[in-house]
Amino acid sequence: MGKQIEVAGWGHQMRVAADVERPETVRALESSCHGQGIARGLGRSYGDAAIAPERVWMMTRLNRMLSFRNGVLTAEAGTSLGDILRVFLPRGYTLPVTPGTQWVTLGGAVAADVHGKNHHTAGTFSRYVEEITLCTADGEMRRIGPGRDPDLFWATVGGMGLTGLILEVSLRLQAIETGYISVDYFRTRDLEETLNWFSVHDASYPFTVAWLDCLASGRSLGRAVLMGGRPTERAELSGRQPAFPMPHRTLRMPFSLPSGMLSRSVGVAFNAAYYGVHRPGAQQIEPWWKFFYPLDVVDDWHRLYGRRGFAQYQAVFPAEVGAQELAALLGRIQNARHPNFLGVLKRMGPSSPGMLSFPRAGLTLALDLPMQGEGTSRLFRELYAQTADLGGRAYLAKDSFLTPDLLQRMYPRLSEFRAVKKRVDPAGRWRSALALRLGLAGGS
Ligand SMILES: Cc1cc2nc3c(=O)[nH]c(=O)nc-3n(C[C@H](O)[C@H](O)[C@H](O)COP(=O)(O)OP(=O)(O)OC[C@H]3O[C@@H](n4cnc5c(N)ncnc54)[C@H](O)[C@@H]3O)c2cc1C
Repeated sequence: MGKQIEVAGWGHQMRVAADVERPETVRALESSCHGQGIARGLGRSYGDAAIAPERVWMMTRLNRMLSFRNGVLTAEAGTSLGDILRVFLPRGYTLPVTPGTQWVTLGGAVAADVHGKNHHTAGTFSRYVEEITLCTADGEMRRIGPGRDPDLFWATVGGMGLTGLILEVSLRLQAIETGYISVDYFRTRDLEETLNWFSVHDASYPFTVAWLDCLASGRSLGRAVLMGGRPTERAELSGRQPAFPMPHRTLRMPFSLPSGMLSRSVGVAFNAAYYGVHRPGAQQIEPWWKFFYPLDVVDDWHRLYGRRGFAQYQAVFPAEVGAQELAALLGRIQNARHPNFLGVLKRMGPSSPGMLSFPRAGLTLALDLPMQGEGTSRLFRELYAQTADLGGRAYLAKDSFLTPDLLQRMYPRLSEFRAVKKRVDPAGRWRSALALRLGLAGGS
């Protein structure tokens, strides 16, 4: 029997007390592996994907790196991306795809089929996964991959832990010359210009992203600071610069701020300042850590939002959705006068074969909204309905508010996923709070 502990998603707006197991070896896991529940990595999913009312298997002590051959790393699923980078970056290898935080486990990266700033050129994380070991509901350890039980593999990729416990991952790393990214900064005046920027520059840069000033309104709605990055070559560094920089020091957020301290006016000031300091035409050579993980500078930064926490809206829209539709969506948040601090916009490339994998060709928009009771829930429901009407979908790793019927509209391959889940987990053993909310748990 594990210990009863309160577990939450990164947004801390949903919490449950669960029986928590922290296996240190696969053998220990085998003996604790009974009953219903869900695997958990570093808890960086925002909503209720890694919490369950029954049991949670925290996988972070299964974090050994097992082998590295011909560029392929095999490691236990609780290994964090940050730990992989600390070992491999100084040796000239990096992750082919990384999300916006290094504090994600290999298991969590596969289960959400994460994407990064290079999605338009590199696809999702699963493209580089050669095999995984999965413990299914019958206790069997299955080695699966794109060429080995592909249905189970593509249901597990993006399957949010609902097909079993991922124990090991074999991932192809990427060789690099330096641990820096050469970044060009741009600024746009409105949404039209922002979307145009992607059309013009996506072909020139492997990494692109826009930080949206989502509080600018009227004719400035959708203005942004945009970044185009590419790996820095050795010859671009000055003689004194080390080719592989060390990670930056982090600051701690020792306690939660009172809820409500991050008001709309703080958001306006923050966004205006961010827009103001990034001068167009600026070029910089930035350490990998700074370019990819700016938010990791403050540990536990979710505490800025207080005890009530926050939620993230992230959706992807088909390529035909343009400035007019996005402006209507941003306008809805502004009309509700809801605070909104961080807005990220990016153009994505084609989908992965993962049945519940989030990315698809088009635009993705992510916004962080502090929880303000029923008003926030209502706003999310409206945004999601509008998203589905536009043919878009919400990201399960960020979600707290979807309903089963919206899920059905957003994920056309849901029935394929359910069929695989039924095959390997007929009693619905693997179930998170998200799965229960969305009717994905299965069983009777
Ligand atoms: C600051 C920040 C920036 C982010 N940026 C991005 C981004 O750019 N792109 C992106 O795609 N995502 C992004 N994310 C989301 C994050 O990458 C995903 O939520 C990821 O799944 C978190 O991994 P984790 O190890 O914390 O897993 P958890 O949050 O603990 O779990 C996430 C899901 O994975 C499952 N899972 C975890 N480990 C296992 C395992 N061993 N076996 C089976 N299932 C498992 C859980 O059951 C759950 O369903 C970001 C999150 C934060 C906080």
